[in-house]
Amino acid sequence: RPAVVAAVAAVPKQLFIGGAWTDATGGRTFAVGDPATGEVLCEVADAAPADGRRALDAAVAAQEEWAATAPRARSEILRRAYEIILSRTDELALLMTLEMGKPLKEARGEVAYAAEFFRWFSEEAVRVDGGYGTTPDGANRILIMRRPVGPCLLITPWNFPLAMGTRKIGPAVAAGCTMVLKPAPQTPLSTLALAGILTEAGLPPGVLNVVTTTDAAGVVEPLLRGGDVRKLSFTGSTQVGRILLAQCADTVVRTSMELGGNAPFIVFDDADLDVAVDGAMTAKMRNMGEACTAANRMFVHRSVADEFAARFAERMAALTVGPGTEPGSDVGPLIDAAGRGKVEELVEDALRRDAKVVTGGTTPDGPGYFYPPTVLTDVSRDAALMRTEIFGPVAAITTFDDEDEVVRAANDTEWGLVGYLFTRDVDRALRVGERLEVGMVGLNTGLVSNPAAPFGGVKQSGLGREGGRVGIEEFLEYKYVAIPVR
Ligand code: ADP
Repeated sequence: RPAVVAAVAAVPKQLFIGGAWTDATGGRTFAVGDPATGEVLCEVADAAPADGRRALDAAVAAQEEWAATAPRARSEILRRAYEIILSRTDELALLMTLEMGKPLKEARGEVAYAAEFFRWFSEEAVRVDGGYGTTPDGANRILIMRRPVGPCLLITPWNFPLAMGTRKIGPAVAAGCTMVLKPAPQTPLSTLALAGILTEAGLPPGVLNVVTTTDAAGVVEPLLRGGDVRKLSFTGSTQVGRILLAQCADTVVRTSMELGGNAPFIVFDDADLDVAVDGAMTAKMRNMGEACTAANRMFVHRSVADEFAARFAERMAALTVGPGTEPGSDVGPLIDAAGRGKVEELVEDALRRDAKVVTGGTTPDGPGYFYPPTVLTDVSRDAALMRTEIFGPVAAITTFDDEDEVVRAANDTEWGLVGYLFTRDVDRALRVGERLEVGMVGLNTGLVSNPAAPFGGVKQSGLGREGGRVGIEEFLEYKYVAIPVR
């Protein structure tokens, strides 16, 4: 495996603070593992709270000068980074496959998706504008400026290690904010490689600081409570999101929160079943189901349920499970033993409540955290997997009879990230699309993520949006100047 050794060796393993690679306090490190083998890939720096503080100090020190740079200069850094990322697609894809498990072809797709956030925000950087007006009584002029919100703390999850980084770094750089980024401990390598690429692209020291740590709570809490962080952008579980929101309350930190989902996937009786099955494959199996946008509850109209389940299960059963580095693999391992254990428990619970296995459902022997593509039918609406993010390749199918009933069932959750809807009836599509309590709707498609669109959820799926025209707004403040007319 010379390519593997070379890819891992090429990545810096230290903290990135103030433009320099530095060891963590006491030289502490932690192991990064390969979920396909359970073996250790390498060690990276394990930051202590004091290292987090150093990183934030560097971001604070760089903020004023960075905010004063020309938008075009910030734009061109992002553009160059976009090009470097694409030129290193193979290396970056391999790194992600190694640390996270997704098949190489999906990892390559993520590299392109991740790079696209930099291209998009390089274009947005030069389009930030304010306003000018007159008060209704004619006595005052109103001048509206846009200012970067200030030093940001960015926290990313392990499931899309590169794209979740670029989706936050891109708008922060474009807006003129400095930042501390804390990647998930399972997947630090993609982020460290990204820091190297941004430096090559000309990002000045201190603008981006990267802190890898196994002590997320210990490093993050003092930063959020300390008063210097002006903005938190977090992607992760709703459970951790709530803790962070409470910590942000003390010093009134602005937040963007991309939290969990429990996506309904609704197939009406008039749907094109070929399209619906394709959509189900994407919505369920992208990233092995380890996505907050994954179809979690499949509601299929009773009249087409058997046919849909049979066709979908046939496609699921045909997928090849194996290490992501094998060219033929469609389905890599889950992230770790805990992730797989949760999936197993959810399936067992559904089976105890009389669900039927059409395909999959049994954990294979051998190394790595593999789990087979699984289709369950007759899933009880009380099953735990209808109320919990599965985060694995398990499709739970239940049936419905009418539109009102399915909309009520789909909305019967505290989450509201995305809903998928398959129908050929335009009126129904718009009607149901309006009624679903979600931030995004996939209409006859299983994929909604796009750098040019506002990604985000309602209810306990989060606050704010990433990407699209609004993505940069999350990193900008309004400042209004009152000027009397004289
Ligand atoms: P998951 O369960 O998918 O790993 P988490 O919400 O636990 O999702 O993790 C998302 C990110 O939040 C990771 O970078 C993780 O290290 C970080 N994190 C977890 N707990 C805390 C915490 N108490 N404070 C700050 N960050 C945290």
